Amino acid sequence: MPGFEIFGDKERKEVSDVLSTGVLMRYGFDAARNSHYKALEFEKTLGDITGSAFSHLCSSGTAALCTAMAACGIGAGDEVIIPAFTFVATFEAVLQAGAIPVFGEIDETLCLNPDRLEDVLTPRTRAVVPVHMCGAMARIDEIKDFCTQKGLILLEDACQSLGATFQGKHLGGFGLAGCFSFDAVKTVTCGEGGAVITDDPQVYERCHQYADHGHDHLGGPDRGADGHPILGSNYRISELNAAVGLAQLRKLDRILEIQRRNKQILKDAMTSLPGISFRYLPDPFGDSATFLSFMLPTEEKTRQACKELAENKIPCPYWYDNNWHYFKKWHHLKNMSCAAPMAVQLCGNLPDYKRVTLPESDEIMKRTLSMQIMLSWSDQDLEQRIAAIKKSFTTIN
Ligand SMILES: *Cc1c(COP(=O)(O)O)cnc(C)c1O
Repeated sequence: MPGFEIFGDKERKEVSDVLSTGVLMRYGFDAARNSHYKALEFEKTLGDITGSAFSHLCSSGTAALCTAMAACGIGAGDEVIIPAFTFVATFEAVLQAGAIPVFGEIDETLCLNPDRLEDVLTPRTRAVVPVHMCGAMARIDEIKDFCTQKGLILLEDACQSLGATFQGKHLGGFGLAGCFSFDAVKTVTCGEGGAVITDDPQVYERCHQYADHGHDHLGGPDRGADGHPILGSNYRISELNAAVGLAQLRKLDRILEIQRRNKQILKDAMTSLPGISFRYLPDPFGDSATFLSFMLPTEEKTRQACKELAENKIPCPYWYDNNWHYFKKWHHLKNMSCAAPMAVQLCGNLPDYKRVTLPESDEIMKRTLSMQIMLSWSDQDLEQRIAAIKKSFTTIN
């Protein structure tokens, strides 16, 4: 999957453009920068790819989520529905906003189940943040319908699903805003980076302002002359990181093509394995194919398969036991182990996360394994993997 597999001369060239001028910041220094605006160019390219009117690059995917929350007007005391299977950054961003994460069940898409949203809806619900996990889509059309019906903000966490589409439209583009991550293990990497996309001019204004201390960017060459319409913070990307990402983003089509091919070969070979079923994809053609996720009939068989596969050098993340991606192991959240008291603790509506149960998500996660799809596999590597996978399954009964 990851962009780090194809880091090369194009990335070095973009970075050396920046190093040749010494202008490492995206704003200002116009005379010295020799027309290099890597962050700006990245944003234009991302907008072209995703078909969104605006995009804003930030210092990380988490920063992008925090920026998007603020720009969409999600704040103190608001409840935000997010899935129980995601990366911790999703609920971190909600908490940073002073808002309250409320966990919804997932379904066999491995993403938020639209049929279970009503169960966790309250008069304080402000937004729904579906997370398009492991390269592919939630039932985003149904989630969008629910949000429209209930007057809720739809903000997509598409951090893991750059390039994935649903019925031809890029994930991240269905709601008021969508976020991507370009960290070191994502489809495209900046080293560290993230972005917000939106079609709403005001949300975009708020994004570039919020991520740069509230600067309105209207002061011309003198940043000191900028106004500050809103309070903000510093979630700026550096030009060096943007430069790496720009070269990577231009390789996205090729990345997707290789991922999709490699995944299809593995999936075809695995379809006949006993007891196996695959993650449900609402639009298989839009899958970015970073992972092949599959289910076995029971937890016991899944654990056994995980062990056998690992022994045959096919490590498959078992998210159910993973510290970072599933609700079960988020003890720091359950205990609200904060470095200092958080704003949400004063809102009076914070659930006791220790008592939250998610039986449907548990049932799915217990039976799910994922296999990361790499770009660097040769045909021979694929053949060997298939043989190793088949061998692993002969011992499962
Ligand atoms: C990676 C990721 C993020 C956060 O991205 P960073 O760039 O690492 O801050 C947010 N949500 C999901 C689902 C992710 O996988």
